Amino acid sequence: MPKIQLKNITKRWGKFYAVDNLSLDVEDNSFITLLGPSGCGKTTILRMIAGLETPTTGQIYIDGKVVFDSERGINLPANDRKVGFLFQNYALWPNMTVYQNISFGLSNVKEDLPTYDYEHRNNKRLIEILQDPRKVVELTNESRDKKGKLNKDIVHLIFIDEYKISQYTAKDLFDFKLHDSPDVQTKAASIIKDLEAKIRSSEEGYQKKGQSLGENSAIVENNQIVTKVRKLSKEEIDLRVRQVARTVKIGMFMDRYPSELSGGQQQRVAIARTLAPEPAVLFMDEPLSNLDAKLRLEMRYELQRLHVETGSTFVYVTHDQMEAMTLATKICLVDNGILQQYAAPLTVYNKPNNIFVGDFVGSPSINFIEAEGRQNNEGNIDLSILNNINVTFKPNQDVSIDTWLRERDTEESLKQARLDELSKEKGYVEKENKDVKFQYHIDKIEEHSFVRQEEETITNADFVLGVRPELFEINEDGALDGIIHGAMPTGMESTIKIRIGDFLLTAVIFGNHTYPLGKEIKFDITSDAIMLFDRKSGKYITSGTLEIRQ
Ligand code: ATP
Repeated sequence: MPKIQLKNITKRWGKFYAVDNLSLDVEDNSFITLLGPSGCGKTTILRMIAGLETPTTGQIYIDGKVVFDSERGINLPANDRKVGFLFQNYALWPNMTVYQNISFGLSNVKEDLPTYDYEHRNNKRLIEILQDPRKVVELTNESRDKKGKLNKDIVHLIFIDEYKISQYTAKDLFDFKLHDSPDVQTKAASIIKDLEAKIRSSEEGYQKKGQSLGENSAIVENNQIVTKVRKLSKEEIDLRVRQVARTVKIGMFMDRYPSELSGGQQQRVAIARTLAPEPAVLFMDEPLSNLDAKLRLEMRYELQRLHVETGSTFVYVTHDQMEAMTLATKICLVDNGILQQYAAPLTVYNKPNNIFVGDFVGSPSINFIEAEGRQNNEGNIDLSILNNINVTFKPNQDVSIDTWLRERDTEESLKQARLDELSKEKGYVEKENKDVKFQYHIDKIEEHSFVRQEEETITNADFVLGVRPELFEINEDGALDGIIHGAMPTGMESTIKIRIGDFLLTAVIFGNHTYPLGKEIKFDITSDAIMLFDRKSGKYITSGTLEIRQ
């Protein structure tokens, strides 16, 4: 069952459709990124799932439970959706320590929860730990300074970290003072005996009341765990705070105030605070955008690790395509409120649904080359590109362009018919922003000129080739001639602009070379990952290879 399901979600403000008929399944444990240009509707989508914005129409399910349904008038408030948020401006409370910042939200939690006997549980845990008393002493000794003096606070932290126990249990363990004992084994055995006696006596007490203690020392009656609407206990809060602090590696800063932390550390506290109530879904809206480039990269790794460790479902908004590519298990690409593609990052990169998607992912951007021509008898497409260079595009798989174009037209008329049908319905509001269309750019020598599509008649013989910058190869006997127009070496690779006539193509060449401006070069595009798009609809047709015809 998907964790989150959106069914035909539309959000409209007046005639402006911020989100237009979006259906999406977010699988459990996935990390999805909502990606798209500014104003495309990403934040609105996130806010609607979270319950902070009310959709105009549609349904939203979380964990199979309906949380919003416009027809049935269901709209669960945000705090009943068991979701966590992390925003760009995460604002920690400046007058609270890190510990208080993380635990604050937990002290307000009031839910129907199992009841536990904490003393019983902790005694059992202490017995487990005391099976290896020498280790306890070793850990204690780690805190000694050069003069051999013990630091009690550090010992507590070491115990909390090593044994994953609360500060209260850590204190009990320290107070046994195993490190002061001449015979550690005998001392541990005698403590264990006392603890076992306490455990037995409490279990007998429960038996008398017709109860017992189950897993984790939960109180059981009539074969059922006894639950109660209650707040989290101090012990539970402490355990959770310690656990999330460990996950984001801020265990050592618990007593500091936010002003005493670096930006990255503060961000980690904010993440810990969001994770502490164990949200089933974690929403993040550009949480790293306030950090510098290096820290951003570091935090990306942290988030990736956190996602695996917590097993939560992450929904992440960004307009940074690099962030979306590197973090996501699936990218949801949106333009003008309409879903363009929802797929794994490499699928989006290698097989974009359309020109918009191809352009949006990848840095440096993909090269678009306008092409005109027809499919020949062998199934290849003879094209003319870049002012009269004749090439043949060989599709990787058989494709009939005529059939493809027919299907495109059928799909378009069905879409129009659906829209006509819809417009007759009561309460239909015509979309004010329906004609906003993505325009790809062709890099040319004089300027970055936008293609003025309305001035040209585009026919079925018009295509656009998509060539990723890494597909170029500079080669002494390359089939294409060009001139180096710009070069940016980074040491590992160089991004160069190659001029062919008026056109400029961007290439990334790996290795440590210098490319003098104005130098004449020969090059090839020898990959089978060249994309063929239909120029009229902007849709992806297929990928293939390119051969230069003399
Ligand atoms: P960005 O990357 O810039 O944050 P975004 O993709 O998150 O953008 P949204 O914040 O979801 O975009 O906004 C989507 C569109 O809805 C925008 O064009 C915005 O102007 C519009 N919009 C958002 N909130 C309202 C509102 N309360 N009333 C009217 N229009 C709104």
